[in-house]
Amino acid sequence: MRKMLTENQGHLVASNKEYAKHFTSGHLPIPPAKKYLVVTCMDARIPPMAAYGIELGDAHVIRNAGGNARDAYRSILISQHMLGTTEILLIKHTQCGMLTFTNEQGRKIVNGHQGHEVCGPDFDFQPFSDLEASVREDVKWLKECGGVVKGGMVSGWVYQCEDGMVKQIC
Ligand SMILES: [Zn+2]
Repeated sequence: MRKMLTENQGHLVASNKEYAKHFTSGHLPIPPAKKYLVVTCMDARIPPMAAYGIELGDAHVIRNAGGNARDAYRSILISQHMLGTTEILLIKHTQCGMLTFTNEQGRKIVNGHQGHEVCGPDFDFQPFSDLEASVREDVKWLKECGGVVKGGMVSGWVYQCEDGMVKQIC
């Protein structure tokens, strides 16, 4: 007997079937054609391909909570050193969830849900209270981390959830 699909699984299967009907990009190579990568937030309101003008095969998009450079580092190293990207666009955004809680609150929430200590007193969710300062800080960290490809570009941006615009911070 076929397993019952959840609503989201069913949606995946049905929408993918439509997508694959018109799919013609099976020939694209692994390295991104435009040699850049984007680090951005996992926020459900941001469509990176559409909002940032990324065509299939052109760029890597690394997403995590907050568009966090340290969290993305493993993927950044792979992107730059194994797949040839030379430019990083770090794009955080207004109304980010990472602006809404402290480490202490985050630890309490997770530990409370689980009923045991998942996050110890030093667990760092890397929340931030100043959006533009956080963009500058992550860009600085990338420039100083030693892993970004020599001569590579790093810039920092904010995507505005209110109007869909991006603006450059650094
Ligand atoms: Zn966010």
